[in-house]
Amino acid sequence: MPSNSVNFTKIQIKIVLGVKKISIMLLSAIFIAFMISWSPVKKSGHREIAEVRNIVFMIGDGMGLATVYTAMTVSHHPLNIERCNIIGLQKTFSSDHYITDSGAAATAFASGHKTNNGAIGMDSQGKPVKSILEIAKENGLATGLVSTSAVTDATPAAFIAHESSKNSPEDIARDFLKADIDVFIGGGYDYFANRTDKLNLIDSLKARGYKVETSMNALSKSSSLKLAGLIAPVNTPFRLDGRGDMLPASSLKAIEILNKNPKGFFLMIEGGEIDWAAHKKDVPPLIDETLDFDDAVGKVLDFAKNDGHTLVVITADHETGGIAITGGSIPGHRAILNIPVKGHTAVMVPVFAYGPGADKFGGIYDNTEFFQKFLTSYGFEDLNLVLANPSY
Ligand SMILES: [Zn+2]
Repeated sequence: MPSNSVNFTKIQIKIVLGVKKISIMLLSAIFIAFMISWSPVKKSGHREIAEVRNIVFMIGDGMGLATVYTAMTVSHHPLNIERCNIIGLQKTFSSDHYITDSGAAATAFASGHKTNNGAIGMDSQGKPVKSILEIAKENGLATGLVSTSAVTDATPAAFIAHESSKNSPEDIARDFLKADIDVFIGGGYDYFANRTDKLNLIDSLKARGYKVETSMNALSKSSSLKLAGLIAPVNTPFRLDGRGDMLPASSLKAIEILNKNPKGFFLMIEGGEIDWAAHKKDVPPLIDETLDFDDAVGKVLDFAKNDGHTLVVITADHETGGIAITGGSIPGHRAILNIPVKGHTAVMVPVFAYGPGADKFGGIYDNTEFFQKFLTSYGFEDLNLVLANPSY
């Protein structure tokens, strides 16, 4: 822009001098206009995009495009997810499988490293890798995780734990005590309290300053700045089976606490049981879990809209079921689904983004790219961090 202005002005001046009939006053006017129109390029530095103070990363586990569109069709009002105007697609493959599992996908999101299926917060060589949540914490931001599943499940775990297997929830629970996370809410009480090694990690959490709550009622009243909400022994039930508004309410609670940190926050929210319903080929909870996740999206987008400094990114870790919509009706709010497989599939999954920095999330890219996009959004890339080598 500035160089174009310079060239344009030079040409104008040459013409003016060639004609020799223009007064000095006019030349001066052109010069003044040139000076006004030219402004130096802003030098980029720390937190260039500092308007992104908070990031809320929302993962619908197994939520492919057909699942989203089914929920849109069945709903009698537009989904909240439709409020996002930046849309992308991401490739979910892991380092050893074309079809990823949740742990490898979440590790890619959290750390920027493709890893083997089964790994949690480790690269494909078995080396622990630092997560965006851990980096946010090191930089003074508040951090949180919310899930309808156990907090030790693969998706939340990949943001705070470093284990070679997602099937070690008791080990992952111990990792919560090593991580300096402000708020975590989900199921998984038994992995802290009723352990095979007889350790009582509930007491350990309290010793580290956490208020531990085991019901939504108590949790919603808590004003503690460190909150561990373990509201089910393992996973919460489907909303159709009585979970209520746990996910949207927990999302708001986490935001209320984390937003007290003036430096900002990183929050991951997972609708963990969309995947389970698809695994079971059980359509009513598949739709309802997606609508429940969308309710949480609505609460987050409302906060982001009011706040103005919050980037919201919504995606899935992978598709589950290979779901095809084989019939239905828009006015009838009906969709007929064919769910041919019980497992995950390799298809790309959609990304929806809202708020400052959202435009980075358009296009087609690997699931590893979320990590760098988050760092750039926070403006961490210029800080003298361990970022050249995000591994430990
Ligand atoms: Zn998953």
